[in-house]
Parts: sequence; C-alpha cells; structure tokens
Amino acid sequence: MELRLYDTFTREKRPFRPIDDKNVRMYVCGPTVYDFAHIGNARPLIVFDVLFRLLRQIYGKDHVTYVRNITDVDDKINARAALDFPGLPLNEAIRRVTEVTASQFLADAAALGCLEPTVQPRATDFVLPRADGKADMVTLIKQLIARGHAYEAAGEVLFDVRSMPDYGALSGRKLDEQLAGARVAVDAHKRNPADFVLWKQSSADEPGWDSPWGRGRPGWHIECSAMSAAYLGEVFDIHGGGLDLIFPHHENEIAQSRCAHGTDVMANYWMHNEFVQVEGEKMSKSLGNFVTIRELLADWPGEVLRLNMLKMHYRSPADWTLRGVEESARTLDDWYRVAADASGDKPAAAVMAALSDDLNTPQAIAELHALRGRAAAGADADRASFASSLRFLGFLSESAAQWESRKQAASGVDADKVDLLITARAEARARKDFKESDRIRDELVAMGIVIKDGKGADGKPVTTWEVAR
Ligand SMILES: [Zn+2]
Repeated sequence: MELRLYDTFTREKRPFRPIDDKNVRMYVCGPTVYDFAHIGNARPLIVFDVLFRLLRQIYGKDHVTYVRNITDVDDKINARAALDFPGLPLNEAIRRVTEVTASQFLADAAALGCLEPTVQPRATDFVLPRADGKADMVTLIKQLIARGHAYEAAGEVLFDVRSMPDYGALSGRKLDEQLAGARVAVDAHKRNPADFVLWKQSSADEPGWDSPWGRGRPGWHIECSAMSAAYLGEVFDIHGGGLDLIFPHHENEIAQSRCAHGTDVMANYWMHNEFVQVEGEKMSKSLGNFVTIRELLADWPGEVLRLNMLKMHYRSPADWTLRGVEESARTLDDWYRVAADASGDKPAAAVMAALSDDLNTPQAIAELHALRGRAAAGADADRASFASSLRFLGFLSESAAQWESRKQAASGVDADKVDLLITARAEARARKDFKESDRIRDELVAMGIVIKDGKGADGKPVTTWEVAR
C-alpha cells in the first residue's frame, strides 16, 4: 500500500518517500498562546495527528519525529497580557498568559484524542544560542546577514526578499506583483516593501533578549525556522499547517531556512488544511459564532468532535454544524456498543488504504460503517478489526460502560429512577394495564430517555434504554 500526499508546493498528490525511513520527520506550526483555541485550530491538530498515527503505523512507532511548536513570544501575547493583567509588570503578565493558555491548549489536544507530538518546543527557549548547540534564532539571523540575505535598518533586522530569486514559489505569488500591490505597506527603512522582520527592538518594558543588534525580540517566522532545524535538521520530510499560513508565514520560513542553510528546499512535502466554517458562515468574533474547543468540550466528548472533524476531508472547507455533531454523537454511541469491548491491534486494510490516499478520512469512515455492519453480524474477527481500526484513529479510549455512564451523567439522568420506571412499565404491561404503561413511557420520553422493546436470548421481552441526543 503506497502512501500518497498532496503537496501544496507541486500542487499534486505524490507518492511519499521519506529522506530516512528510520526517522520520518514532520513539523507542524503550533499555536500562539494568547487565547483559547477555537474549532478552526482543532482542525490541524486532528488532521496532523491522523497523519502522525498513519506514519507510525507504516514506519514504526520509534521511527517518526513529530515537532509542533508553541509560540510564546509575540506582540499579540504582549497586548493580551497588558489587557488581562494591567496591574502586573508586563513580563510577569506575559508569563501568566502563556502558561495558562499553553496548558489549556495541551488539555484540549488530549481531549480531542491527539497523541502528544515527539517534541513541543517553546520559541523562547530558541532565541539565543543554546548550550546543547541546537539551532537558534540569533545564529540563524547572523548566518542570513553573513550570506547577504538580511540587513540591519532602523533598529530592525530585515530579510531581503530580492536576494532570493524564487521567493514566493510556495504561494505562487510573484514578487513583482507583490511590490506593485498597494496593500504592502511601504516603510522607508526597507529596501523592498515586501522585506520582513527577523528581529526588532524592544522597549525597556517589552520582552527582550540581548543580541548583536541590541536588546530585542524575534519576528514570528524565524521561530519556526529555528525550531524545525533544531529537531529535524536543515531539510526534512513534511511541513504542515493551516491554509492561512501559506503566505506569508510558510513562504518566509522557506526563505529563511533555505537561505541560511544554502539548501534547495526546506521540506519535501507541504501540507495545508482548509478552513472551518460554523453553520455555513465564516467564524468571527463579530458574528458571535466564534466557538472555542473548550466550550464544545463542555457539551460533548472529545471523540465526538474528533469524528465530526474527520467526516470532512482536510483539503475541503469544513462546515461545523450542531446537526453534524449530534449525528457524530449517535454514530459513536453505536460504535461503542458494537466494538468497545473487543480487542485487537491491527487496523483494517480498507481503512489504511483510504488514509494512505492523502488522508481520505471520509472514505475511511465509510469503511468503518461497512465494518460496523459486519462486526454487528457477529464474527469475532470483524469486531476485532472494527475495534482496532477505531482505536488506531483515536477512538474507543473508554469502555462501553464508561461511555454510557458518562453520557448519562452529562445528561443529568438518574439511571436508578429510569430502571425503576422501566420495571414498573413491564409490570403494567404484564397485567395488560396499557394506560399505565403508556403513561410511564411518556414520563420516560419527557426525561429524554429512548426505550427499545426487544427479546432477550431466552425469548422473554427485554427493554433497553438510552439517553436521547
Ligand atoms: Zn511556523
């Protein structure tokens, strides 16, 4: 089975060939920790987690290195810190904002069923040269200046986009078009309007590090060039992130890394997930439809959110709807009933094949539905294959009983009371008091309980129940 991935750079699906199949290397841009992550942020988390799992399955658990950074130095963080903690010195306020936000982000990722990346470096640990000799931002900037790709002006260090003939190749933006565009702000100290900041000065109360260019702080783009080189080397296999990062962020990462190291490429495959809309509309704070992962987790198990996201292919825009989430919840309730207590550790070949085709998760889910049908028909091998496919994709982290009792607890249903009512209804039916049995059924429905009448193995009537979604 051949893994094929869509590469934004070449704009085609290509067979994946790692540089070193003993160490497959992937970098994904992580969050800037100043605010709670929203459902749009959940998409790259989940999508690249599936890719990480797939690579581990193909190349072996110990042969994949996945780096996802945490950006903990950024002017948006400074602004948030000043707003939230006006009484504190700025650096103390920043520390509070980044600590709380980063730990919430990690909790969200875990609740969504994402494995921890191999390394999660924080940008502030990679500003200055390090004792362990790993790549750092100041050294990269010095290399760029030495090689004629960057210059100092008005207290900043800027990347000289004209020094790189193929700048813009990832996004397909021609430099001449960018220069002609009125939207690029013209700053007098820049050689070219499109030149971007590698280093800027900090005032006394802003976070800053002593550098050859005075006390200052790095630009955003250089962080990822340093942290990817630190853990994955100058050229690695896969670089991922959201579509909105293609320009300027990834374009600028490529420019910095290639020009500092003198390499032809930074990464061999560039992967980007599409946006998420909410109920058919673009998500924005002003529209009031800005949904955080945290809010969703208050109402739904993380696995429901995960399944709902994976129903849509990562390169298609996703429409996040309550209806979709409810349907995903019903699907998982059913899958838990059929599979949760089956063991097995080999995902089904059909599921692997779907994922190997550029992470075709809608197809993988269709295969899961087919497997579910066979598993419910009874063969142990099918149940094992179904259960291990689900676990491989990050589902079935609980037992069927845990799943059901959590659902009941979340719904506030008193399970003992439901059982008593069902017994009373069975007794009423046995004595043919249908008025009473109907009344009890209505009471259960009013409590949000769905009952199902069937026959047990001994042929006697059995009533099961579940909480309606
Ligand atoms: Zn990045």
